[in-house]
Amino acid sequence: MILNKPITYIPGISGQRAGLIYSELGIKTCNDLLNFFPFRYIDKTQFYQIKDLQPSASEVQIVGKITRVNEIAQKRGSRLVATFQDATGTMELVWFRGQKWIKDSLKVNEPYVVYGKLNHYNGSFSIPHPEMELVKEYKKKLQSKMQPVYPSTEKLTNSGVSNKLMQGYVLKLLQIVYDTIQESLSPEIIGDFSLMPKKEALLNVHFPKSQENLAKAQYRLKFEELFFIQLQLVRKKLINKTKIKGFIFENVGAIFNEFYADKLPFNLTNAQKRVLKEIRKDVASGAHMNRLLQGDVGSGKTIVALLSMLLAIDNGFQATIMAPTEILANQHYIAVSELLQGMNIKVDILTGSVRAKKRREIHAHLEDGTLHILIGTHALLEDKVQFNNLGIAIIDEQHRFGVAQRSKLWMKNKMPPHILVMTATPIPRTLAMSVYGDLDISVIDELPPGRKEVKTVHRFDSNRLSVFKFMRDEIAKGRQIYIVYPLIQESEAMDYKDLMDGYESVSREFPTPKYQISIVHGQMKPADKEHEMQRFVKHETQIMVATTVIEVGVNVPNASVMIIESSERFGLSQLHQLRGRVGRGADQSYCILLSSFKLSAEAKTRLKTMVETTDGFKIAEVDLKLRGPGNLMGTQQSGVLNLKIADVVKDSKILVAARNTAISVLQEDANLSKPENINIKNTFIQISKSSKIWSNIS
Ligand code: ADP
Ligand code: MG
Repeated sequence: MILNKPITYIPGISGQRAGLIYSELGIKTCNDLLNFFPFRYIDKTQFYQIKDLQPSASEVQIVGKITRVNEIAQKRGSRLVATFQDATGTMELVWFRGQKWIKDSLKVNEPYVVYGKLNHYNGSFSIPHPEMELVKEYKKKLQSKMQPVYPSTEKLTNSGVSNKLMQGYVLKLLQIVYDTIQESLSPEIIGDFSLMPKKEALLNVHFPKSQENLAKAQYRLKFEELFFIQLQLVRKKLINKTKIKGFIFENVGAIFNEFYADKLPFNLTNAQKRVLKEIRKDVASGAHMNRLLQGDVGSGKTIVALLSMLLAIDNGFQATIMAPTEILANQHYIAVSELLQGMNIKVDILTGSVRAKKRREIHAHLEDGTLHILIGTHALLEDKVQFNNLGIAIIDEQHRFGVAQRSKLWMKNKMPPHILVMTATPIPRTLAMSVYGDLDISVIDELPPGRKEVKTVHRFDSNRLSVFKFMRDEIAKGRQIYIVYPLIQESEAMDYKDLMDGYESVSREFPTPKYQISIVHGQMKPADKEHEMQRFVKHETQIMVATTVIEVGVNVPNASVMIIESSERFGLSQLHQLRGRVGRGADQSYCILLSSFKLSAEAKTRLKTMVETTDGFKIAEVDLKLRGPGNLMGTQQSGVLNLKIADVVKDSKILVAARNTAISVLQEDANLSKPENINIKNTFIQISKSSKIWSNIS
């Protein structure tokens, strides 16, 4: 197939040039070039009238006449100014170079088509160095009215690979291959969505005949791109469901029921009940569960995890929770142990700081099956840790763990344990579809009753004194306070200094013995951290000064004030996580965002969003818009998001349509073996061969 050949196949591209294009743009084959899309177009389909010009317009095309030409002397050189007029108004055309030659060539009072970049200055419009053509010449030519502008690099431009040249290559290629381009979608899909046929779409995305055609071509190609991604994700999910067998937790037994009846300290929220039902359905089905549980901070994921583990134990299996930090693992351990008090269930914890002797003991009990629940950090992943019969693995705060780690946990068994991944980072629906499209998703979208919304304010550093006063008042009421410093500077030493300076000034404001202050940061030994945390948990200290190590999961219900220093330096999701540390008790809680006076527009948006809403999903949407999907999810998943033409944020409607279409195609024809799906199948095979993205997911 021609499309698989290197671009040197196209007349005029030498091996050397092809090498440069490959190293600069990653284009190797003819197919790569065909799918190398313009990022904008020079639109010569539209004509403007001078009265309709807007300062926001970039390039415009106007028909009019030159009424006068003046050469205006300047300090350095001169400029040539032509007064240009149509039936609706007047503007200027300006030249700074080649005035002499241009002046001689301009024809006064003859109609011209003028095209160029529009400048707006002091209320009047001008076009510097316009492209000009007499109307009578213009009419003679048959020209493409919209020209593609391709992404390029300095190196390419300097080596003479201009946009014109790229246009030429693509045009030649299209001429050669046009008739051989295969349709990739089924007639049914094309009909249902009134899609432009593939050939036409490729032609029009490069050389659109009109804005309307361009829009149709782009829609078609975006749909196709998203459709095939979803087809792979959905197919993977279906295969997992049907091919990978899971343990069956048949019984909701004595342990679950005893806990539910006697130990559960509150009524579950409706959202918790719904999610639990979803999990129960999964683990009873005989298929392998691979579920993502999203729930905002404080929404009560822990109890759902615990109840799921009890289901496993009821059916003779072991269970585990893996957390990203020791502090968190400890908290889970304490919470789970407390909840299970008086029940005959053995729980233990394994982290990096567990001593060798204790460790061996844990290993032994894990292997002989007497240990029911093991909670820990990534220490759980060591080869020495062997379960007797692991039925379910719960992974907390998944964005901290790599995908490889997920599957490592999974490989520990003869049969994969059910997997429940819990995350407190709300992921916008469309993004979740792209990145976690192969997982089932549950959402706890309701907070336990009685929570008061955290009152959030933004204060400048200069208001610090009033913040101190507020802190004193809250402490007098018996409350506790977090003060968090960012840990995002280039040098750890600098962060440490910021923190210590802050600690000192807080210590001065809140002197002993009346006030006690805890401090926790990354350079402390785990045991010391733990000690300081515990002092705060036990209310021996009123203030906790910390870096973001407390970001995840820490639960101190009596702490009701969160003060975030240099809050402009935190990302939205971090701010949201931090704020989630308060508002866990019965008291009104507060979050104070301190910042310097000078703020970037983006920082302003972040702080404003935090003040305006506590809804994690809304915050995540703003974050997605500000930072784009790649940054949001980290490089790990960026492969899935490395889209050529579609945009997860802007094209969310197309994404939903593409996903639903992929689902219905596979539901009717799981192996794509029906004749009407032949196009899809061929393309699918082609894509699967060339993409490594998919092996990286779960
Ligand atoms: P997260 O989802 O952030 O992990 P947790 O599981 O730590 O949330 O729960 C936060 C707090 O809410 C805990 O103190 C927990 O005991 C409490 N909680 C959870 N579910 C409920 C409920 N249905 N009713 C009342 N309190 C609840
Ligand atoms: Mg939690």
